[in-house]
Amino acid sequence: MKNLIFIAPHGTGKGTQCDLLVQKYNYNHIATGNMIREAISKNDDFSDKLKNIIDSGKLVDDDIILKMLNNYLEKNNLSTSIVFDGYPRNLNQALDLEKLMSQKRIKIDLVIYLKIDKEEALKRTLGRQFCPNCQRSYNIYYQDLKPKQENICDVCNTNLENRSDDTKETFDKLFNVFLKETEPVLRYYQEKNILKIIDASKSKEEIFAIIEESISDN
Ligand code: AMP
Repeated sequence: MKNLIFIAPHGTGKGTQCDLLVQKYNYNHIATGNMIREAISKNDDFSDKLKNIIDSGKLVDDDIILKMLNNYLEKNNLSTSIVFDGYPRNLNQALDLEKLMSQKRIKIDLVIYLKIDKEEALKRTLGRQFCPNCQRSYNIYYQDLKPKQENICDVCNTNLENRSDDTKETFDKLFNVFLKETEPVLRYYQEKNILKIIDASKSKEEIFAIIEESISDN
């Protein structure tokens, strides 16, 4: 299977598609947002700083993210295909990733851009819930993404939560950050001929079917 990067505005559903890749193809899901949330949950001096950054709709410094990523790569073996979720978010991070991958002799084969309009991304953001235990994502506004029982994780029965950065105010700021910082990353991968654009207004299943077609090595 191909090594992937997922790029999409806040709330589009990258996490949901990554969950499917993990379940069906045992992908190694490398999500910088999850690393940040894990660091926040430690409740140390650094946690408040990180929480303030993400709740105010800004990006965490590239150096901090790179450190977290290096730490993850040291601790986890990379024996299955990789999906990067939420990284890189700017051109500098794309260059950092390129260096890191060449040191590890890993090739990024495909970059998937889940394209969505602002209104739809906002709706998905405001309906999103997640399981703090197993990290599974849900959405109360979509029949196929709703938990079977309101506010309870289908997998591990934990009470679901909303992300503190899933507010309209934070969303608006992050959408602008995406346009300014992340769109240049899309052009960078387009020039390398590895960018695949998927219309993310489709259903979870339809999007996954397109992804499956794109990731096979044949
Ligand atoms: P995500 O779970 O990908 O939506 O990320 C949640 C938040 O964490 C983002 O809105 C950013 O504030 C921060 N974040 C995640 N990944 C990165 C990254 N690669 N660079 C900078 N900040 C990030």
